[in-house]
Amino acid sequence: MKTLKVALLGAGNVGSQVARILLDDADTLAARTGARLELVGIAVRNVDAPREYAAPQALYTTDASALVRSADIVIELMGGIEPARTLILEAIEHGATVVTGNKALLAVDGPTLYEKADAAGVQLSYEAAVAGAIPILRPITDSLAGDKITRVMGIVNGTTNFILDAMDSTGAEFADALAEATRLGYAEADPTADIEGHDAAAKGAILASLAFHTRVALEDVNCQGITAVTAGDISSAKDAGYVIKLLAIAQKLDGGVSVRVHPTLIPREHPLGAVRGAFNAVFVEAESAGELMFYGRGAGGSPTASAVMGDVVSAARRLVLGGPGRTDSTIEVLPVLPIDAVTTRYYIGMDAADQPGVLSKISALFAENGVSIETMRQTVHRDGNENGGPATAELRIVTHRASEAALAATVEAIKGLDIINSVTSVLRVEGV
Ligand code: NAP
Repeated sequence: MKTLKVALLGAGNVGSQVARILLDDADTLAARTGARLELVGIAVRNVDAPREYAAPQALYTTDASALVRSADIVIELMGGIEPARTLILEAIEHGATVVTGNKALLAVDGPTLYEKADAAGVQLSYEAAVAGAIPILRPITDSLAGDKITRVMGIVNGTTNFILDAMDSTGAEFADALAEATRLGYAEADPTADIEGHDAAAKGAILASLAFHTRVALEDVNCQGITAVTAGDISSAKDAGYVIKLLAIAQKLDGGVSVRVHPTLIPREHPLGAVRGAFNAVFVEAESAGELMFYGRGAGGSPTASAVMGDVVSAARRLVLGGPGRTDSTIEVLPVLPIDAVTTRYYIGMDAADQPGVLSKISALFAENGVSIETMRQTVHRDGNENGGPATAELRIVTHRASEAALAATVEAIKGLDIINSVTSVLRVEGV
């Protein structure tokens, strides 16, 4: 039986679980691939650090570069940009197949790596980079390769889903839900990349590139995080039958593609509405297949190691059979359209004076700006606002589809009305 040398870069949360599977399940992996996968070394910063899974001590090394040059398959699970990028490029140059889970690196420099891998005829796989354990990239690139994907909507960040779900179920404000997520280990010490939507945007760029056979860079993604979502937004959405989720949405439009990340209202009965806690899900719409949903754990050492090992087994099978590596299929570079190219429904919450004629004045402004109202709800607070002022009316409006520009003009005009105390939220609505 052929032996394939495997180099593992990193033995943290994910890497240590990959080492466990490679060493403990060696016979099963050999039966499945037709080759023995020999773990030849594990590159780390500190060879003496305690590990969640203790591989034989002789495997640990700090010389990642030498390790890369000795391998048929290189698994990069260090994270960060450097030295991960240089080591992956060295592996490609050396002709090794590369498996990585490094979404940050792919977001920053993916196209360079894909092109180098294509040119060298080696395979570069990264199933673990999007939605952890969930098999989503291979279904998009292989299973749906004969179909045309029209839209992908994903809950691809577990931290923000945990926070929004906690706000929805307990009525907590954002800061309290974030503190709880940090306490339970769902949020990192510096949660910026998660709560500002950057992590979801990196995954949205990868999903859009693969779904539409094009190249979408991180800076092409229109990104808004969840820090401005209030308990009031959540409870108003709930009253109206919606739940707020941070979605990464990649959409094929006439003349290009659009990729955006923002807090979104979706009907509570939508499949994405049922995704609780730190779970992830990706909802795919394709011309022939219709609607599909992929659901599971979006992070964690073992779940992510499962996705990594799927790529490793697939790579090993190809190495046994021979033939050139394959990255993804970029057919054309489609323009990435600005957010205004997308029309969506909107949810607008506002606090108005409780006076006769308020509704007709607001309706008239919507009509003047070409935005059509689908539903309008009014709750009168007879005890006045929180400062003890006169009675107020809380208005919640859901519009029909409108452009960003028309909606922005409407909101500006509303803010100018003397009967409006404040516009409390403007959120997009999907899945209706
Ligand atoms: P981690 O726990 O921080 O582990 C990183 C590992 O890489 C450590 O073993 C560290 O060595 C090693 N390392 C870092 N810099 C190094 C350097 N310059 N030279 C040699 N070794 C170095 O990271 P992780 O959570 O396992 O994540 C790994 C990758 O998977 C990241 O790209 C991440 O985005 C991706 N990913 C993670 C998850 C998840 O749930 N954790 C999910 C999806 C994707 P020491 O141990 O000696 O410090």
